[in-house]
Amino acid sequence: MMNQPLLISALIRHADTCHGDTEIVTRLTEGGIHRYGYRDAHRRARQLARALLRLGVALGDRVGTLAWNNYRHFEIYYATSGVGAICHTINPRLFPEQIAYIVNHAGDRLVFFDLTFGKLVETLRPLCPGVEHWVLLTDRAHFPGGASTALCYEELLAAESDDYEWPAFSEETAAALCYTSGTTGNPKGVLYSHRSTVLHAYAINLPDVMGLSARDTALPVVPMFHVNAWGLPYAAPMVGAKMVLPGPGLDGASLCELYAAERVTISAGVPTIWLNTLAHLREKQIRLPLPHRTIIGGAAASPALIHALETEQGIEVRHGWGMTETSPACTINTFLAKHAAQSTEARDMVHAKQGRIVPGVELRIVDDAGRELPRDGTAFGELQVRGHWICREYFKSEGGNILRPGGWFATGDVATLDGDGYMRIVDRTKDIIKSGGEWISSIEIENIALGHPAVAGSAVIGLPHEKWGERPLLVIVKRAGHDVTAEQMLEFLRPRIAKWWLPDAVVFTDAIPLTGTGKVYKTKLRQIYAGYYTKNPEAA
Ligand code: AMP
Repeated sequence: MMNQPLLISALIRHADTCHGDTEIVTRLTEGGIHRYGYRDAHRRARQLARALLRLGVALGDRVGTLAWNNYRHFEIYYATSGVGAICHTINPRLFPEQIAYIVNHAGDRLVFFDLTFGKLVETLRPLCPGVEHWVLLTDRAHFPGGASTALCYEELLAAESDDYEWPAFSEETAAALCYTSGTTGNPKGVLYSHRSTVLHAYAINLPDVMGLSARDTALPVVPMFHVNAWGLPYAAPMVGAKMVLPGPGLDGASLCELYAAERVTISAGVPTIWLNTLAHLREKQIRLPLPHRTIIGGAAASPALIHALETEQGIEVRHGWGMTETSPACTINTFLAKHAAQSTEARDMVHAKQGRIVPGVELRIVDDAGRELPRDGTAFGELQVRGHWICREYFKSEGGNILRPGGWFATGDVATLDGDGYMRIVDRTKDIIKSGGEWISSIEIENIALGHPAVAGSAVIGLPHEKWGERPLLVIVKRAGHDVTAEQMLEFLRPRIAKWWLPDAVVFTDAIPLTGTGKVYKTKLRQIYAGYYTKNPEAA
């Protein structure tokens, strides 16, 4: 057999050849909608490739992006990796100091940025002296007065022809770089190779994973700066699925407008996005066009959310699990034939899990001594993974060798596995609550609390407790127009969880702090409520 390297350029070349007219639709940062086909995207990516080379970008150089999901960001993905450089997507929601750390650590030579981030870039410039060029992702007509020192993206492209052949190089060349969110300690860089990216794209296009096809219209709500939008910008052109890129409009109204107007058949995002979108759908009494399946991951999707999307909207929910370090797809939840005959309750139990193992990766759970635990759906221990798209070490070997014996990557999550390959996340190792020598799953209490009709958001944290070591505190955001007391909340939980899992107190807040990637910011919550049980001994 031929031994051709697995290169990302092959994906866009194929989309051009076979799906040249299939659209990429963008809600622009400048306002309005932009649409063109894969052929145009490929042509412009080649022009950009030439522009990058003219600016001196060479094999292995890092090129940063501070950008929403849009067609120019898509072109940067393909142009940078196509010439053998590395597309470093930066999360603009991090603090400027953290972003500066990331840009400097990565050694970005160029940074492309959307209009939204003009002010941020002014803050970053003096902090990032190594960046040779800042490139504003717009045309001259939209150039703001003060940004004259930035290069203009459209002018860079206009100066180049599209006469360019993607070069061949080793499939192990790095293609993309994404930093972990770094809620504890400095963010760490994860480098994805051409090989890992292409194999991951093949895997997520399997029918029981995301299962994209040429008949699909895919809208990644998950940002292109969060683990490469879970691989969708690679998987969609691979099969010729139409893409809809929502730009900065991530609110319920903007998303629903695109879902309906573009007849989106597959979306992907974190649970909080769907909580907001669902609230909008309910308020406006809108039904989305079907079929629509949605991939939810990044944080636990509660059974209440899954149930509401399925029964109220007819949306097929596929709950998945992954990490920046794992590209991310490792598990995704679809049913097996045998589940068709089961009761709704039994199916709901299966559906609440994070899903079955994606072929191409292996999962196992281990105890504190590193011994493998049984795959019986009950035993829980630290989740470890290995496979074609799992991180071996961090960029610049930060932290040294991170793998356990046997080449396993330790995820820091606690999980169960069963004989069908279904995995259920019990908690993050650092969030699980250790009370009187036993473990309490914060996620499970949060999920049950979300089933209460007056609850819009919930978080459970463990707080130091004199007698038990730690005890759970339940933090609730009430749904607009609804009321519930702490006692009523506890009454709701009491029959649904073990007695000693019952939080010692319930507190109400207007908003639960979220991390830059939309997860509950538990470190912050633990700071806010530190000493709660010491200061309120009656609660404990
Ligand atoms: P990140 O690298 O920012 O994507 O974060 C990865 C972490 O998010 C994982 O280690 C999990 O703790 C959490 N996570 C991702 N997906 C899920 C899920 N479906 N359920 C529960 N936690 C999840």
